[in-house]
Amino acid sequence: MYRDLMCGKVSLQNLDKKVKLAGWVSKRRDHGQLIFIDLRDKSGIMQIVFNPEISQGTHLKAKELRSEWVISVEGYVKNRLEGAENTEISTGKLELIVESIEILSKSKTPPFEIIDSNEISEEIRLKYRYLDLRRASMQKKIKLRHEVTQFMWDYLSKKDFTHIETPILIKSTPEGARDYVVPSRIKNGAFYALPQSPQQMKQILMVSGFDRYFQIARCFRDEDLRADRQPEHTQLDLEMSFVHQNDVMDLVEGLYINLIKNVNQSISIDNTFERLTYDQAMERFGSDKPDLRFDLELTELSEIAKNIESNIIQNSLRSKSILKAVVAKGWHTLGRRDFDRLTDLVKKQGAGGLIYINIPKGIDGQINLEDTSGPLNKFYTQENLDQIIAETGAKSGDVIFMIIGDKKIVNSSLAFLRSHIAKEKNLIDKNIMKFAWITDFPLFDQDENGSWQPAHHVFSSPHEEDTKFLDNDPGKVRANLFDLVCNGVELGSGSIRIHDRSLQEKVFDVIGYSASEVSNLFGHLLDAFEYGVPPHGGMGLGLDRLVAMLSYEDSIREVIAFPKTQSASDLLFGSPDFISEEQLSELSIELNEINE
Ligand code: ASP
Repeated sequence: MYRDLMCGKVSLQNLDKKVKLAGWVSKRRDHGQLIFIDLRDKSGIMQIVFNPEISQGTHLKAKELRSEWVISVEGYVKNRLEGAENTEISTGKLELIVESIEILSKSKTPPFEIIDSNEISEEIRLKYRYLDLRRASMQKKIKLRHEVTQFMWDYLSKKDFTHIETPILIKSTPEGARDYVVPSRIKNGAFYALPQSPQQMKQILMVSGFDRYFQIARCFRDEDLRADRQPEHTQLDLEMSFVHQNDVMDLVEGLYINLIKNVNQSISIDNTFERLTYDQAMERFGSDKPDLRFDLELTELSEIAKNIESNIIQNSLRSKSILKAVVAKGWHTLGRRDFDRLTDLVKKQGAGGLIYINIPKGIDGQINLEDTSGPLNKFYTQENLDQIIAETGAKSGDVIFMIIGDKKIVNSSLAFLRSHIAKEKNLIDKNIMKFAWITDFPLFDQDENGSWQPAHHVFSSPHEEDTKFLDNDPGKVRANLFDLVCNGVELGSGSIRIHDRSLQEKVFDVIGYSASEVSNLFGHLLDAFEYGVPPHGGMGLGLDRLVAMLSYEDSIREVIAFPKTQSASDLLFGSPDFISEEQLSELSIELNEINE
């Protein structure tokens, strides 16, 4: 036996008793006569003391010890001397007077000290991930991740869900991103794909009668890496039979409220999950993932703008543009430079520019045009200003920001500005999780070539009353599709699925799949639909992002044991890597010239 107790668990109960501990040498202080070592394992730290008067041989061995050596020690637990206590650790009043030691493993000098510091570069951290993971903060995050999935398991099992593993080697079928593919040795020239999600499999499990399925599932998407994406991510994947949209949303709401309260007691969660349609979210916040921890709602002013005699505004309105505003309360102190800086920011989001009206502080009652300032002020009438103020609710001391242009760009730029203002003005309570459901997304998006693409995936069902638009006006079709968003981030997506073969074929048709593509790519699902399908729906809920939020981390790499870098490589193992000629020839693969 190497130990009979974990380091961080030594307590007054062990006082004057003999215990055996094992762990890593964390800090070592050699005071000549006495050698003090902080012994570390995953539970914490225990100070151990080597005194030559207790054991000369042991003390000699302790002189050799260096950081990160692994040892097992036995001795008596004693109170530390008064004044030598450490209130920062749970064992801080105690120490172990070592009688014997066994050195289990030696360590080279590590490239960084195993302490919680932000100063180590991520590259080094990922290359030596085993050392990085030894740090208490990393241990805590990975443990939290375990607690989250354990809670999901327990909660869903109690709700009669069955955990079912679905294969990782599947057939390549389109689901929005590019597939990772794996060559087959047995069937030369053929490829498996790694699942972008278990979508079709979980639907088939509903056809198979499992009724309620979940899986902590790995999903693989070969996407161009945007910030903080991983080629493989984990999601809580679930599917339910005989349900409507509200049933799925209620289940997930219950799960998340209970889960968060259980795993992180210091974060507060607003139990009311606001439900907004996609149109409402876009109108009020300019985004389908609004951060509801602060208000700063947008106001459309296109009608009022029709009466503003400015060429810039009138020309824009003629080309179907819209004018929208957001009010920054109490921001009258902004100077010219601030406005230029904010203008640059929204221009980076695609906006043509930023119009503002600065209303000075200290005006009681009517705000006169001449009291205000802003680039287009000379074009407004008092009536224009009155209307803008009435519509936006702006007050003395506020700044009204306005953007005119294409609806999409106006919305996304103002959504960006809204968050930016909230950050600069410190309006965000980092300790609260504010969830919302966004529903009624359009079923299709139009791509740059004018073809219709599924907004989410091809299996989401249209609103029944909108199916009439499928043939001639697909852009109008709303879907039974819902996203869970939290603090401005999409945490998951789900839908009620199509469970009727002909409707599914119709949707494939709108997207432009030929009959042979449909039969090749989706034949298995359509065939299954011939044998009695329960109405069903479900969700995929990102686990990495959730755990990152619960750990107050911005990057999901912080909560994944072995993440890939932004360029999709694994610095510890060195993947992706080339394979041998022999492996290639077994697979009948010949490489062309390689793009470095
Ligand atoms: N398969 C979907 C996804 O991964 C989630 C779902 O609709 O259940 O995004």
